Amino acid sequence: MAEDLSQLSTAHRTALLSRDDRLFHVILAQQFDRELIQDLCRLAEMIRAVAEVRSGAQFLNTLLGHKRAMLYFIQPSTRTFLSFTAACQVLGMPYNEVRNASTSSEVKGETEDDTVRVLSQYFDLIIMRHPEEGFAERMAHMQNAMRRAIPIINGGSGKDQHPTQALLDIYTLHRCLTHPGESRPKPDYSPNPFDGKTIAFVGDLKRGRTVRSLAYLLCHYPGVKMFFVSHPDLQIGDDIVEYIQRNDVNFELHDDVRTVIGDCDAVYMTRLQDEWDSQGESKAIDYGKYCLTYDMREKFKKDLVIMHPLPRRQEIDKRLDNDSRAKYWDQVRNGMWMRAALIATTFNIDARIIDHYHSYYAH
Ligand code: ASP
Repeated sequence: MAEDLSQLSTAHRTALLSRDDRLFHVILAQQFDRELIQDLCRLAEMIRAVAEVRSGAQFLNTLLGHKRAMLYFIQPSTRTFLSFTAACQVLGMPYNEVRNASTSSEVKGETEDDTVRVLSQYFDLIIMRHPEEGFAERMAHMQNAMRRAIPIINGGSGKDQHPTQALLDIYTLHRCLTHPGESRPKPDYSPNPFDGKTIAFVGDLKRGRTVRSLAYLLCHYPGVKMFFVSHPDLQIGDDIVEYIQRNDVNFELHDDVRTVIGDCDAVYMTRLQDEWDSQGESKAIDYGKYCLTYDMREKFKKDLVIMHPLPRRQEIDKRLDNDSRAKYWDQVRNGMWMRAALIATTFNIDARIIDHYHSYYAH
């Protein structure tokens, strides 16, 4: 517990987040290798198929009725919060929330560490969003040192990581690149759909945690190429560039989406993360170079995948919303299934869901 996490290697950090060789805490995108990503995508696909049938939805709903989740979201959130509550509901898991530290005993001088310790006595899982990088990881380590340790899921940690968004993003990419146009693909996520594909990340990449986490995941797919398209002041961090280089992944830095859009198989748009400005410094940046306009669709590839973690400002012209290549609403729904898959894996009930799927869908 007294360990200084910054001194540990990534391998050591990720090992401390597992139990019995299984996922326990979900904190860093580096915890997920290709096999685990594939298993989670497959499970998400099965859960959504099972949930479509009344008896299947009822079965899922019995799985975690004996557990309780706490959503400790001390940073604004609508989508991720609701996505997790919906995922809990799919699995029949009751949940409660703390969204405002000013209504907790922190106003009486309790430390956040103690608040989380107390919460962990009432609940079986804590999903947290926190403005401080490293907070969720520190809480996971604190849990490891407790007699009754419960899993922590990181629902967004400062400017650093958002691993569950990255998982739903890779699930969306997998679905769109492997099975364009299919609403119910076979749950087979073993082929690599990224070989020879170019994914462009556009916008505020320095402070956009979703991009950072997704870049880690994409490094598991040989043959992928990443474009990072941003104003030089908002370009992706050196730590991510070094990681990509170490993994021999092809990448390029650009500063105008118009010059690259025709080469992209997927484009991942992001908003300006100006809540992190200290003095409004990003206001001077011309963000127009990092927006998709309606006229650009002339240059789009036929099966371009247009993504956005939302909320959107002006990064994507609203007239593109009805273009079949716009996948940002699908991302939202995919997120609910992926988060249900993640919670199911954490509680070791994945095998029961897989059995149920096969007994119903085996022909
Ligand atoms: N919703 C995403 C996040 O929490 C993206 C954003 O806020 O721009 O990081």
